[in-house]
Order: sequence, then structure tokens, then C-alpha cells
Amino acid sequence: MAVTSAPAVRFAPSPTGLLHIGNARTALINWLIARRDGGTFLLRLDDTDQERSRPEFADAIVADLAWLGIAPDRVIRQSDRLAIYDEAAERLKAAGRLYPCYETPDELDRRRKRQLARGLPPVYDRAALALGPDERARLEAEGRRPHWRFRLEPGIVAWDDLVRGASQVDCGSLSDPVLVREDGSYLYTLPSVVDDAREGITHVVRGEDHVTNTAVQIQILRALDAAVPAFGHHNLLTTATGEGLSKRMGHLSLRGLRESGLEPMAVAALAVLVGSAEAVRPVDSLEALGAILDLTHISRAPARFDEAELRALNAKLLHAMPYAQAAPRLAALGCDLGEPFWAAVRGNLDVMADAAVWAPVVTGPVDPVVEDQAFIAAARDLLPSGAFGETTWKTWTGAVKAATGRAGRALFMPLRLALTGRDHGPELAALLPLIGRERALRRLSGERA
Ligand code: GLU
Repeated sequence: MAVTSAPAVRFAPSPTGLLHIGNARTALINWLIARRDGGTFLLRLDDTDQERSRPEFADAIVADLAWLGIAPDRVIRQSDRLAIYDEAAERLKAAGRLYPCYETPDELDRRRKRQLARGLPPVYDRAALALGPDERARLEAEGRRPHWRFRLEPGIVAWDDLVRGASQVDCGSLSDPVLVREDGSYLYTLPSVVDDAREGITHVVRGEDHVTNTAVQIQILRALDAAVPAFGHHNLLTTATGEGLSKRMGHLSLRGLRESGLEPMAVAALAVLVGSAEAVRPVDSLEALGAILDLTHISRAPARFDEAELRALNAKLLHAMPYAQAAPRLAALGCDLGEPFWAAVRGNLDVMADAAVWAPVVTGPVDPVVEDQAFIAAARDLLPSGAFGETTWKTWTGAVKAATGRAGRALFMPLRLALTGRDHGPELAALLPLIGRERALRRLSGERA
């Protein structure tokens, strides 16, 4: 299903670790939806878990999104907005939808085990709903503090999922979710719903681990008389061996991928296209990626993220990258030797930083490797005079072949070793004019040049 006019979307990570490639998938899908249709993108830091949330992770999230090309229109922090959640909680209490419970984790655990032993689903039995004011007062006098559960309406909650189509969850089989902990702090659910409503979020697109939450959240939105946004749940990414990704484990963090020299557009293209009906292919801008993205083409099965596939995609992207795009990056690496240099080396790069390996091969000094002196001396004497150009290599090696009778590897490898000091590298036809006649002559004479 297409997303219609001016969507307001959000990406809502908790700042408890570094973003990984699976988070990038969610962030990018939202960003592309927003940008494609002239909408807005909100970054919401879900930092109500005070113990695990860290400001340095919040900063890292902003920086990693920027690296991908995502510049949120606005950033909000849930820890700044507790009063708003308190107000919503009071409304739900007044409506009888949020009720106090006094069971300890141990008591709940024992109850669950009894249910399971009797073959019953381990659903909260709502015992606390039956407590009268006196019983509550007695429990509180014992020093117990309540946690608060949302009273779900029984029955099916259905929605038209942007990715999965007609979807439904039977709320009769769910426990009433805890929204407020004993210490008064909020679990993720209520703040998320309140923020989505207040910020006018029109499309909530996130991983399919949130499908059940969506049913609960739709009930809470209705209980608060708020508009229900469109929901979409994309498949999750796993590692190549099928494990889930975890922010806390630093698995395939964007930071790590970036530090290993990968292009943000390679990461973005793979993050968005893997596990969809679209072929994973190099895409050179987020705009172009947005034009390809179709939520209904995302597969239902989990998608495997393979680092080798990412590296291959990165290389492909570099091989096709126009000079104008590469130039600032080359300059930053201190190896911008101009367009012909880029044209000569890009086909040999796995990561952009490899370009810095080839620049000194052009500019020197290179220690030539000369094994067969007589052959190299003969080749040197045949080096064409005048300025070198595109055809110099062909003319020269033609002449060397005619004079020495050598062909193939026996002809080319000694020349490569003498000219570059290496046994592999970019096409010499393109490198030789960059090396130039003077340096070539010296290297063919065995001189460091
Ligand atoms: N903080 C939640 C998470 O990271 C947000 C989920 C959502 O998008 O609603 O899973």
C-alpha cells in the first residue's frame, strides 16, 4: 500500500547502545517515506529507562544517522516529557483502564507456573482488579507499592498493516500490560503512544517484534480518544548465521561498519533492500533508494544480513562512482590526483581508503622490482617518446612483444613489477600516463622514483 500525503514519521531508538544495521533499516525506511512524500521525520529518544540510557549513546545515534544521510526535522527525549505521560496515566486511571496491582515478581512467577502446570495460558488473572479500597489500603500499609496495568478490552484488534496487509491480534489472549512500574517509572508503551498522538505521527513503521504491541497501543490510543496512525511492521534482520541483532552486543553497529571504511550508501542500500522483492544493488543516493522502496515488497520472513554481501556491494558502488562524488573523499584521504586517477583506480577498490594505496604508486617513490634486467632494459629503450596518453601502453607493449617475442604474463608482469613495485593493481594502460615518462624511465632503470 502506498503511503499517502505528507506523512509524519518517527524513529524511536532507546539510547542504550549503538545503532546496528537492523536499526538502520527502520530509520531509513521511515526517512525515505518522509522525504519521498514531503513529510517530517522525528527522532525520539526513548530514554525512560534511566539505568540503561546514556547521553553518549544518544549523541552516537544522532551522529550515526547523520553519517547515513538522515537529518531529523526534530529530536525529542522522553525523559523531558514525564509530566505529559503522568497526565495520560491519570486519565486512564480515571476511566478505570489503568489499575493498581500489588503482586511481587515472585508471586506472579508462581502463578504463571501453576497456570502452565494446569495447561492454561500464562495470562495475568486480573486478581488485582477485584481488590477493594480496604484491601488496597492493607497492602499499602504492608509497604507494598503498586505497579499499574492497562485493562485490555477482550476481542480482536485489526489494522491494515502498511507492510503485511490485513493484520489482527486477539487481545483476549494477552496479559494486561504493565504501563507504570512500582517506582513510578514508565515502561515503553504509554510514553510511546502519548508521544505518537501528541506529535501527530501518521505512520508508525517499525520491526515486526512490535506487532503485539501495536494491538495494545491501538487500544490505549482509543482509550485516550487519540487518532490511530497507520502501522507497518517490517521483517527483522538476523546475522548471516541467523541470530538476532542486539544493540547491546554492538553487533554490526553502524559505528563499526563506518570505521571499517564502508560507504554509507552501501550500508543504506543493503539495509533497505535486503529481504525485499527488490534486488540488492548499488544505489547512489537516498533519493534513488526512496524511489525503489515499496513497503509491500518487504518479505514476511526474517532477512539475513551478510557482511560479505555488504563488502561486495560497497566495491560495486565505488567501481561505478563518478569522480565528482569521489573527489571530496579523495581529498580527505590526501590522494585526490584528479579524474584520470580516479578512473584508473576505482575498479580496484574494496573501500575508499584503498585509493590512498595507489596514489603513491603514481607519484612515487616506488621501489621497482626488476628480476630480468636485460628484458627491462630492452623495454626501457622502447618506451615511446613524447607525452604519454591512452594508447601509450598498447603501443609500447606491442613494440616490446615484437622485439622480445614475449607475450601474456611473461610480458606484462615484469613491466608491472618494475613500474609499480607490485604484482597486482589497476590497469597499467590507465596508470602509465599518470606515472609519466620521466618516472617510468627511472623505475625501468631500477631507480627508486
Ligand atoms: N524504543 C522502541 C524500540 O527501540 C521503539 C519502538 C517503536 O518504534 O515504537 O524498540
